[in-house]
Amino acid sequence: MRVLVVEDDALLGDAIQAGLKQAGYAVDWMKDGVSADHALSTESYAAVVLDLGLPRLSGLEVLRRLRSRSATLPVLILTAMDTVNDRIKGLDAGADDYLLKPFDMGELAARLRALIRRASGKVDLLLQVAGVKLDPAAHRVLYRDSPVELSPKEFAVLHALMLNAGKVLSRARLEEQLYAWGEEVESNAVEVHIHHLRRKLSPELIATIRGVGYLIAADKAG
Ligand code: CA
Repeated sequence: MRVLVVEDDALLGDAIQAGLKQAGYAVDWMKDGVSADHALSTESYAAVVLDLGLPRLSGLEVLRRLRSRSATLPVLILTAMDTVNDRIKGLDAGADDYLLKPFDMGELAARLRALIRRASGKVDLLLQVAGVKLDPAAHRVLYRDSPVELSPKEFAVLHALMLNAGKVLSRARLEEQLYAWGEEVESNAVEVHIHHLRRKLSPELIATIRGVGYLIAADKAG
């Protein structure tokens, strides 16, 4: 199994590469963000170990670019910055797990294994309706197997409709999904998000039931 390690610190990168090789991985090691971005757009990996503080292009930006192309590749971020904010930024940008430096090589290998295992078993957790696949754990959406970029609120609306496929959800019920993000909801927020979802996914996906709410029809059995 081939993994990419992105780390600009020579000693640490060398140790990670050696440790993961010993754990049985084929390891590519990149020392800056631009090389990492290039490797990730041209090569195929089972997982990525990504330092956040990198020369030329930040780890966060490498991660954002990766997520715009691939929704599912497991990413473990490394950060020396022991602040909640950096970890939140990394996780929000699509990281699957993180380790704070300094860390134990055994723990890194174990977490990587867990990520790869989870990624391969992800299919069971997917919600699938009408060509749309939604992964609640990874916060990702595919339409006809291509990744679709949704805002957190669009995702929340789509998630609610897919969880309740075949049932009509009122606007008030959908607004509750938005309030969970801790933001004030404008009066037409749901309509706007539904509009964006129709544009980004399919115009026919979400039906408006006049005076009642919105509906994603359940896939017919068989
Ligand atoms: Ca660094």
